[in-house]
Amino acid sequence: MRYVSTRGRAPVLDFDDVLLAGLASDGGLYVPESIPTIETMPDPSAGYAAVAAQVIRPFVGDGVVASRLDELCNASYSGFAHPDVAPLTEVGDDLFLLELHWGPTLSFKDYALQLVGRMFDAVLTDRSERVLVLGATSGDTGSAAIAGCEGRDAIDVVILYPDGRVSDVQRRQMTTVPAENVRAVAVSGTFDDCQDLVKAAFNDPELRSRFSLAAVNSINWARVMAQTAYYWWTAAKLGRPFSVAVPTGNFGNVLAASVAQRMGAPIERLIVGNNANHGLATLIATGRLPLEEVAPTLAPAMDIAVPSNLERYLFELFDRSPEATTEALEMFRSDRKLVTDEIAHHEMASVFAAGWVDDAHIEETMSDVYASSGLLIDPHTAVGWQVGVRLRRDDEVLVIVSTAHPAKFSDAVIRATGQVPTLPTRAAHVLDLPERISHIDPALGDLEVVLSEMVRSSHS
Ligand SMILES: *Cc1c(COP(=O)(O)O)cnc(C)c1O
Repeated sequence: MRYVSTRGRAPVLDFDDVLLAGLASDGGLYVPESIPTIETMPDPSAGYAAVAAQVIRPFVGDGVVASRLDELCNASYSGFAHPDVAPLTEVGDDLFLLELHWGPTLSFKDYALQLVGRMFDAVLTDRSERVLVLGATSGDTGSAAIAGCEGRDAIDVVILYPDGRVSDVQRRQMTTVPAENVRAVAVSGTFDDCQDLVKAAFNDPELRSRFSLAAVNSINWARVMAQTAYYWWTAAKLGRPFSVAVPTGNFGNVLAASVAQRMGAPIERLIVGNNANHGLATLIATGRLPLEEVAPTLAPAMDIAVPSNLERYLFELFDRSPEATTEALEMFRSDRKLVTDEIAHHEMASVFAAGWVDDAHIEETMSDVYASSGLLIDPHTAVGWQVGVRLRRDDEVLVIVSTAHPAKFSDAVIRATGQVPTLPTRAAHVLDLPERISHIDPALGDLEVVLSEMVRSSHS
C-alpha cells in the first residue's frame, strides 16, 4: 500500500515511512492511495486483536510492521482490562454503548496509541534509529502517548501540558510513570501555548534534526487506521447494519468510522456530536465551517476550532483532488470560512448528521442517564449520547461511542449525578506514586534544556 498527500506535492511513501513522517512535507496529510475493502466479515470469536490485525493488514503493505502485525496487535491489546477489549453493551432497545475506556489511561486514545507506540519501536529498532516523540496535550493524548511509549528502546517521549489545566488523574497518569524515557512538562500557559511551543520546535530545522523529533498527534495516519478496527469489531459483533454517534472535535474518531464505512463495514449514518465549539455541526448542517474562538467546556478534549483530520475527509469529498483540497483550506485560512459546493455538501449530508450540546445539557444528560439506567458516563460520552438519541430515526440500530471512563472526569460526574465514579484498579496506582514534573515557561530555550536533559539521561 502506498500513501499520497492530500496536497499532492509530497513524496509517495509506504506505510512504515508514513508512520514515522506524521505530517507530509507539503503540509498535507497522508492517506492511502486507495481505500481497501474487506470482503469477509471478521469473526469476533477470534478476539479483538485478531480482528484488528485483519482490518489493519491491507493498510500496512509489506514492511517491518506488516511482518510483525499479529504480534504487535496481540501485545497492544492484551493489557486491556476487559476480555472483549472494546465491549458493546446494550443500554436500550437496539441502543448500544461501545466502551472504549478499557485501556491503561481510560480513554479511547489507548486503542490507537498502544499500537502506534509499538509500531514506532519496531520500525526504528529495525533501522537502528531513535526518535524523541514531542507532543502537547489538553489531557488524554499525552497520557495515552506516554503509556504507549514508556520503556520502549527506540523512543523517548516528552509531553507538554498546561500547568493547572488538566485534571488530577490526567496529570498523574503522565507524571507518575517512572520510565527513564518519559518526561511530562508543565508549561505555565494554556494548551495553545503548549501547542505553539511544539510547533516552534518542529519548525526549527536544527532542533528538529538534533533531537530527531517525531509526532504521534492525531494527524498521524496510523492512529486513524488503528481506530477503524473497533468499528469493524462492532459490525462483526452486531451482525447487522447500524449507525454510530461519535463525540468529536478533531474529526479523528468519526473519520475512522467513515473510513471503515468506505472499506465496506455496514455503517449507515455517522452522527457527529459537538460541544459548544460546534464548527463541525455547522459545517454538516450548512456546508460552511466558520472559524471561531474556542470556549472552554465540560468536554475539554473537544474544545477545538480547526478540526485537523477534516482535511482527509475533504480530500475524499472533492474526489481526491489535491487542488480542490488545497484551495478550500487556503480559503479557510484567508476568509476564516470553509465553503463546500452544493454537490459536495449534499454528499456529506447524505452520510453525516450532527448536533451540539452546551454544558447545561451535558450535565442534564449525565444526570438523566444515571437516573434511568444507573450508568455513569463522562461528559464527552454524554455529548455523543445526547446528539445520537436526539437524531436517531425509528428502527435505527444506534451505537454510541463512549470515549472516556467517568472517573477521568470525576468533578463533572459528581456535580451532575452526586455519585463518585471509582477509578478502576488498573489506573488507581497513579494516586499513590510520586510525581516527577519539569516546569517551564512557554519559551523554546526552556524546552531545549528539557530535551537535552532527557536525551542525556535516557541514553546513559
Ligand atoms: C480526544 C478525545 C475526544 C475527541 O476525539 P477526536 O479525535 O476529536 O474525534 C473525545 N473524547 C475524549 C475523551 C477524548 O480524549
